[in-house]
Amino acid sequence: MDCIFCKIIEGSIPSKKVLETDTVLAFHDIQPAAPVHILIIPKKHIATMNDVEREDLRLLGDIHHAAQQIAEQFGIKERGYRLINNCGPEGGQVVYHLHYHLLGGQKLGAIHH
Ligand code: 5GP
Ligand code: ZN
Repeated sequence: MDCIFCKIIEGSIPSKKVLETDTVLAFHDIQPAAPVHILIIPKKHIATMNDVEREDLRLLGDIHHAAQQIAEQFGIKERGYRLINNCGPEGGQVVYHLHYHLLGGQKLGAIHH
């Protein structure tokens, strides 16, 4: 499959991993927009938020749980952080494998990244 993030999951494209479970993977964004910028993705290929089905809902919980743990790992849990999903062209989605940006480590401005 021609998907960058599936290749990161299978290991044929390297990444700086920060957390891995049976269902999710988290790694540093290659172009960080904040001092902490981690991408959290389901291991299952789902193109966008619009393609999440009822049977996938558990994965969204897993992603939120991973976000909490990563925030703790990077020492920003109490200071606060942002979890963002970009969906579709106007949402600014570039990679069509569902992912959430965990951003923090500085005071963040208006809602974007
Ligand atoms: P989107 O705009 O789709 O929400 O965000 C895609 C993100 O993936 C961007 O922030 C971009 O920097 C990141 N990205 C794209 N290709 C790679 C890659 O090969 N490795 C890593 N670690 N991040 C990537
Ligand atoms: Zn994929």
